[in-house]
Amino acid sequence: MSFYILDDLSYTRQQTKDDPNGKATYPWSDAYEINRVSGDCEYCPKCGRPTTLLSWERPRSIRLTNKHFPDRLCWWLSSSDLLCVSQKFKELYEQAELSGIESFEQIEYVKTPSRYSGVAPTYFVGKIPFTQEISLDVENSIISGFPREKTPCALCWPLQTTISTIQYLALHTDGWKGTDIFEGLCGWTYFFTTLS
Ligand SMILES: [Zn+2]
Repeated sequence: MSFYILDDLSYTRQQTKDDPNGKATYPWSDAYEINRVSGDCEYCPKCGRPTTLLSWERPRSIRLTNKHFPDRLCWWLSSSDLLCVSQKFKELYEQAELSGIESFEQIEYVKTPSRYSGVAPTYFVGKIPFTQEISLDVENSIISGFPREKTPCALCWPLQTTISTIQYLALHTDGWKGTDIFEGLCGWTYFFTTLS
């Protein structure tokens, strides 16, 4: 079985690598919330620390910055950990009969810059419940980062460092129930399995 990490920042990271002094540009539209309504965050059941940012509640409104509408919105403000996807993504997900997204909730209001006449896609917030079915195999992973001040928690952040580079990723999958998309308790990434 193969697992994939959804990495929104690989494009700008590569630009920074190619030209460390240049300005990285992201070709797709950014998204900014308007009049955000916040709920609570999720907490680690072991140590009680927050494992997510505050949830984003209805009514949801966003402002897009250009007409290059992506199928997954990359956020720069307070909703960076959300999976916000287009109608096209939702339809392909359903057609492929993938699993792991609990529900899709439509973003009620999408504002585009007035100088663009294109109609923005309908966007949805995909709800992915955190799972403990899969956990990081710390001993067999090769992950580097900066020293972390907080005490590691065996459940929500078993590492001594932040995560800057993942050279080798090992996972405990004994409890995995086979969902195609899932989010570990660390809250830092999504995984997709192969379709086969
Ligand atoms: Zn914890």
